[in-house]
Amino acid sequence: MDISHIINQLGEERENYFNAVSPPIIQSSNFAFKNFRAFKSAMANELGNHIYTRGNNPTVAILRKKLAALEKAEDALVFSSGAAAIANAVISQVQAGDHIVCVQNPYSWTHTLLSKFLSRFGVEHDFVDGRNLDAIQSAIKSNTKVLYLESPNSLTFELQDLKACAAIAKKHKLISIIDNSYCSPYYQNPISLGIDIVVHSGTKFINGHSDVVNGIVCSSKVIINKIFHHEFMTLGAIISPNDAFLVMRGLRTMPLRMERSFTTALKVIAFLKEHPKVEKIMFPLDPSFDQYELAKKQMKGCAGFFTFSLKADSMEKVELFFSKLKRFLLAVSWGGHESLILPIAALYGIEGRPDPVIPWNLVRMYIGLEEADVLIKDLETALAVL
Ligand SMILES: *Cc1c(COP(=O)(O)O)cnc(C)c1O
Repeated sequence: MDISHIINQLGEERENYFNAVSPPIIQSSNFAFKNFRAFKSAMANELGNHIYTRGNNPTVAILRKKLAALEKAEDALVFSSGAAAIANAVISQVQAGDHIVCVQNPYSWTHTLLSKFLSRFGVEHDFVDGRNLDAIQSAIKSNTKVLYLESPNSLTFELQDLKACAAIAKKHKLISIIDNSYCSPYYQNPISLGIDIVVHSGTKFINGHSDVVNGIVCSSKVIINKIFHHEFMTLGAIISPNDAFLVMRGLRTMPLRMERSFTTALKVIAFLKEHPKVEKIMFPLDPSFDQYELAKKQMKGCAGFFTFSLKADSMEKVELFFSKLKRFLLAVSWGGHESLILPIAALYGIEGRPDPVIPWNLVRMYIGLEEADVLIKDLETALAVL
C-alpha cells in the first residue's frame, strides 16, 4: 500500500459523511443501539464496535488504521501521550518477578517508568549499551520478558541493530518493543525487521504542529487486542476525537515536513562543520557518525534532528551563545514546524536533579520549516560570541 493512499484514503468512508474530504469529529462519549440484539452483539466485541469512546471512537478509528498501515502493523492504538503509549505497552508484557532489558539512555520518562515505577511492583530491569549485541545477550536472565529498544534515541542517537535484536528476542522468547519516534513510520518500520511492538510519541513528527500531545502503539492483532482489553480500557489514557482529527491533519504532510527538515539540516550541518567553534556533529545520517553504516542499512532516512558540541571554555559562554539566537526557539520537544534548540548546559546544577550524563557543551537542534539561510545566519551571529 503506498503512503499517499494511506494518508489520503485509508480508513475514510466519505460516502458515510456527505463525501466530506476531511473526516468528521465524532464528539460523542457514547453510542446508542437499535435494539437488544445489536447491543448484545456489539458487547461481544468492544474493539470492533462503537460502544463508548474510552474504547473505540469513529474519528480515532480512522487514525488507527492509517498509523497501523504506515508501520506495516496489523493494528494500532492511540493514546493521550507518548509516555502513556510506552507505559501501556511495557506494562502489558510484565508482571511481578519479571525482568526487562532496556537500552541505556532511553527517553527520560521511559527510564523513570522502569527505575522508579515498575520497580515498586516487583519488575526488575537492567540498562545496557544497545550498540553492543553481546551486552544485550548477557543481560538476559531466566525471568527476562521484554527487550526494550529506542533506535536512534533523541539526544545522542545511539542505534541498535534491529534485525539482530529481534532475533535475540525470538531466541529467548522475549517481547521486543521499540520507541520509533525519531524515524517515524515514514523512515523506519521495525515490525518488518521482526520487532513485536512499536511505540511512538505522536506529538513529534506524526502530528508535527506542536499543538497535540499523543502516543501510538502498533503491533499484531493479538497483542493489540490484549492491550486493549487490559491496560487500554483500565488505564483510560485515550486521545480525544478532536485531537485525533488534528493528528490526522498533521499526518497529511508528514513526508513533506520530514523531507524539508532533512534537506535544510544538511545545509545547516555543512555550515556548522566548517565553523571553528563547532567541535563535533552527532547525526545518524552524517558519514562521520559512529554507526552511520547501520543507520543507512536499517533507516530509510530521517529528518533534521541532531546534536553538536561547541568549543566553549565556560557555561557562561554557552549561555551567551543561546542569548543571541533569534530564529531558534529555546524549548524541549521536536518534530514541529519551528526550529528548536536545547542547551544541555541549562540542565546542569539544578537542585534535586542529577546532572546530565552528557557534557554541557552539547546543543540539541531540531530543524523546522524555515529557510536554511535564515537559520544559518542566526547561528553565524550567535557563534561569533564564542
Ligand atoms: C517526547 C518523547 C516521548 C514521550 O512522548 P510524549 O508525547 O511527550 O508523552 C517518548 N519518546 C521519545 C523519544 C520522545 O522524544
